[in-house]
Amino acid sequence: MRAAVFYGREDLRLESVPEPQPGPGDVKLRVLYNGICGSDLLEYYDGPVTTRSTPHPLTGMTNPVILGHELCGEVVALGAGVEDLVPGQLVAVEPLETADHSHAGLASVDAAGRGPVAFAAARAAGSK
Ligand SMILES: [Zn+2]
Repeated sequence: MRAAVFYGREDLRLESVPEPQPGPGDVKLRVLYNGICGSDLLEYYDGPVTTRSTPHPLTGMTNPVILGHELCGEVVALGAGVEDLVPGQLVAVEPLETADHSHAGLASVDAAGRGPVAFAAARAAGSK
């Protein structure tokens, strides 16, 4: 798949990257819409600020990374242990970290795009 990959300040490259596969506790989405947040702009113009040169405690990722955290999409695949979502379900991502860095959130929306009507947690790989 093609992605805009952030390497560092004012260094964003359009590249082909491997198609992600969901690991345990992960949810794979087909992104329908993605916003550009002020923090994405800060990262581009002044970064790295929130991206990391050491492994992120939740994802383990370091730069280069794919920016974007304000998105909605359709569930296309579920990792092992995810039982509260189904393929085809529309969701909005609520980017958050818990104090133990173990959770990111997905808020379900109904077929008309209204919502959230329910909340489901997507667990980070390796957590409960
Ligand atoms: Zn944001």
